[in-house]
Amino acid sequence: MSQELWEKVDDYINSVVIAPDAALEAAADSAVKAQLPPVSVTPAQGKLLHLMARSLGAQRILEIGTLAGYSTIWLARALPSHGRLITIEANPAHADIARVNIEGAALSDRVEIRLGKALDVLPQIAAEQQPPFDFVFIDADRTGLAGYFDWAVKLSHPGSVIIVDNVVRKGGVIDASSDNVDVKGVRRFNDRLKTDARVDVTMMQTVGAKGHDGFAMALVR
Ligand code: SAH
Ligand code: MG
Repeated sequence: MSQELWEKVDDYINSVVIAPDAALEAAADSAVKAQLPPVSVTPAQGKLLHLMARSLGAQRILEIGTLAGYSTIWLARALPSHGRLITIEANPAHADIARVNIEGAALSDRVEIRLGKALDVLPQIAAEQQPPFDFVFIDADRTGLAGYFDWAVKLSHPGSVIIVDNVVRKGGVIDASSDNVDVKGVRRFNDRLKTDARVDVTMMQTVGAKGHDGFAMALVR
């Protein structure tokens, strides 16, 4: 009942705020066709990420968890033409699909897909001594979340924003005795967040086409 209503409202919101967009629609279609898990951000969430990155004036964006590149396209479109987005993806089949979609969105000049597990790739990026990232979107598996967040803070600067997706998990996050690995990963991350003096943070729960979930927003001090 509520899911049906949330979907109708998301459709309505899309009709108000999302313009037809061939590249984004092709990316979403490609994920369905390849039977990827249906876990891309929704159009309105993608646009929220885009607007956040744009309002920060982000020139360097880091994404952890590419899938078909749907959120990647929204984020990369917030960049100026000389901007750079690095997106980390562990699954080569996902990376291949994302590459085609990013090319289709004419963003290959500013998007780089790094193939590998985030906890292997993040130290490599750190070793390259690149300039810090202005905006980070963490959206891979939740088991490694606390570690990804540590790297995100290290690779940022004061004023950078880090968004962590899917931190409510249909309310599962309040269950301290859950043996679900994703819930456990989020709770481990949250427990450390309580005393993390490096960031100021909030969390929003959301409902919509992807059900009941939420995201965390951290501002690096
Ligand atoms: N951000 C995408 C959705 C990402 S889904 C969007 O909203 O459009 C999560 C992705 O993270 C999957 O493609 C999965 O293969 C990848 N992933 C899972 N564990 C990972 C890890 N340890 N390192 C890098 N990527 C990982
Ligand atoms: Mg997500």
